[in-house]
Amino acid sequence: MKQKNSLRTYQKKRNFTLTPEPSGKKNVIPYYDNLFVIQHHCASHDHYDFRFVLGGVLKSWAIPKGPSYNPTVKRLAIRTEDHPYAYAFFEGVIPEGEYGGGTVMVWDIGTYKNSNQNSLSLDQALKDGHVEIILQGQKMKGAFALIRTHFAGKEQWLFIKMKDRYASARKNPITGKPQSALTHRTMQQITKAGRP
Ligand code: MN
Repeated sequence: MKQKNSLRTYQKKRNFTLTPEPSGKKNVIPYYDNLFVIQHHCASHDHYDFRFVLGGVLKSWAIPKGPSYNPTVKRLAIRTEDHPYAYAFFEGVIPEGEYGGGTVMVWDIGTYKNSNQNSLSLDQALKDGHVEIILQGQKMKGAFALIRTHFAGKEQWLFIKMKDRYASARKNPITGKPQSALTHRTMQQITKAGRP
């Protein structure tokens, strides 16, 4: 897999003898090049991490308020460091005091399709700051846009549901289906199971 060097920031921030998170140094999980995941992360600030596979790693954003089905709602998405592929299946407890300390749940997982205009590659779309993708998850479905608004410092983007048959001003994906898409566990159950 390419772009392993883009995991350097991820690896520097973490002590893998203390955190159960994957180091990304070896990968024993079957590789799907069109995987996306949204992880509910109860850390100092509760948020949702949106990630999709590109070039062997997970391109990542932290969405403080989580995703919305409402096309008129623009959710702030802060770009974060690339994560290793195996992170898409990580569910557990990061010890307090470690980077991102708190509980991580695989809130949604599925596949994505690049739907950028003029068959623009996702790589180029990311560089341009305008990504359009179609998600086929257990919870999130249909077309979404990621639009970069601030380049300086931590990149800020907006995560927006695009108009299609899945768009809804009423449905709230966060309160409606809070359990893990991978293990059907609640946040409390994952926290309890992850405590030493
Ligand atoms: Mn996070």
